[in-house]
Amino acid sequence: LKMRAKAQMAGLQSSKSLPQVHTLPIADMLAARLASFDPESEDAEAENAFYVADLGEVYRQHLRWKTLLPRIEPFFAMKCNPDPMVMRLLASLGAGFDCASKNEIQSVLDLGVDPSRIIYANPCKQNSFVKYAYNNNVRMMTFDNAEELYKIKRFHPEAQLVLRILTDDSKSLCKLGLKFGAPLDTTASLLATAQGLGLDVIGISFHVGSGCFDANAFGEAVIRARRVFDQAKDYGFDFKFLDVGGGFPSAHVTEGITFEKVASILGSTVDAHFGPEVRVIAEPGRYYVGSAFTLATQVIARRTIQHDADQALDNARNENPSHMYYINDGMYGSFNCIMFDHQVCEPHVLLRDGEFAYQQELMDRRSLASVWGPTCDSIDCITSKASLPLMESGDWLYFENMGAYTITAASQFNGFKKSEILYTTTEQEVTFHF
Ligand code: PLP
Repeated sequence: LKMRAKAQMAGLQSSKSLPQVHTLPIADMLAARLASFDPESEDAEAENAFYVADLGEVYRQHLRWKTLLPRIEPFFAMKCNPDPMVMRLLASLGAGFDCASKNEIQSVLDLGVDPSRIIYANPCKQNSFVKYAYNNNVRMMTFDNAEELYKIKRFHPEAQLVLRILTDDSKSLCKLGLKFGAPLDTTASLLATAQGLGLDVIGISFHVGSGCFDANAFGEAVIRARRVFDQAKDYGFDFKFLDVGGGFPSAHVTEGITFEKVASILGSTVDAHFGPEVRVIAEPGRYYVGSAFTLATQVIARRTIQHDADQALDNARNENPSHMYYINDGMYGSFNCIMFDHQVCEPHVLLRDGEFAYQQELMDRRSLASVWGPTCDSIDCITSKASLPLMESGDWLYFENMGAYTITAASQFNGFKKSEILYTTTEQEVTFHF
């Protein structure tokens, strides 16, 4: 796999329009960018928040997947982070893609990926998008309701349909079952409808919920899928396809659920219930990118809070924030993950009084502070409980593990640009030369 990755990567490197991929450690990338920034200059671009994306981390996650879940083919859920370099890397490594819309499908096809490596995994699709899939030979798609079957019969009668079933998502941060998934008491009638329409249903999919924190949820969902596999025989279907969805933890999650635990439960349950004739795929999103992106933001303003006498007492006990820091990316930008993805984002000191402090233990006295985004909205609060040494305007903070559901849903509300991305690879096997 490593040799193939190298060879394929070499093919990618010929493109002139792609950004440069460095081979520096994250710390050096951050330091180099900050060193190139002149605080006296009016150059707004250089002052903006920026990401360092480590493509080596994405590559390592792919190797880890192949080692621990060799039977299950990953189809990257690009909604999580459709970064063009991440997409190229995963395409070159032979991953498939889970797409949710025409634009997503188009961008994967534009990379030269074969349509058979795409699953259109949105159970409720716009008519014209289904037609687009038909015209571009994208055949695998999910459904969970009868109306969708009639739509597909009309616009894509040759589709290879995957019935998405409802599973227990109570142990996950984002409960997708509120919106999608056929309850098991509806699958018989859906299969009967598909049979009546002469549609080709090839198997089952599920999603245990994004940000799942119970590895057992995967095993239980596989067993539910097995029940519908058996049921499908009564309607003339011989299923050979199982899609175990997303919900796999990012590499930085080391407590509670880990990828190792999920892989051990999922891999063994799949093997116990499905013979080798069944093709098994998954739709991991945050697993691939969560830990691969670090965000650097500048402190653009500070407000010192004046406390009254009672509060001063609390403050001494460190219960009231003493400062409010305003940084140049926020809830309407990269930190939308706080609202949409229930994330807790912890700031760390990157540059303070000219001193680079990435991953260093600072001895300075810390106090409680709140950290806010740059917009004029008061919802734009990143944390109300940061423990920080005294920071000045012009200092920098950084946030780790910012690769999943961040930049993909960022807006430009109030005229603030999306944070730029700089690329590196900390993995020797992955070298890019442009
Ligand atoms: N597949 C589908 C259909 C999804 O809706 C999602 C996320 O919302 C994913 C996969 C990816 O989930 P995760 O990032 O938790 O792996």
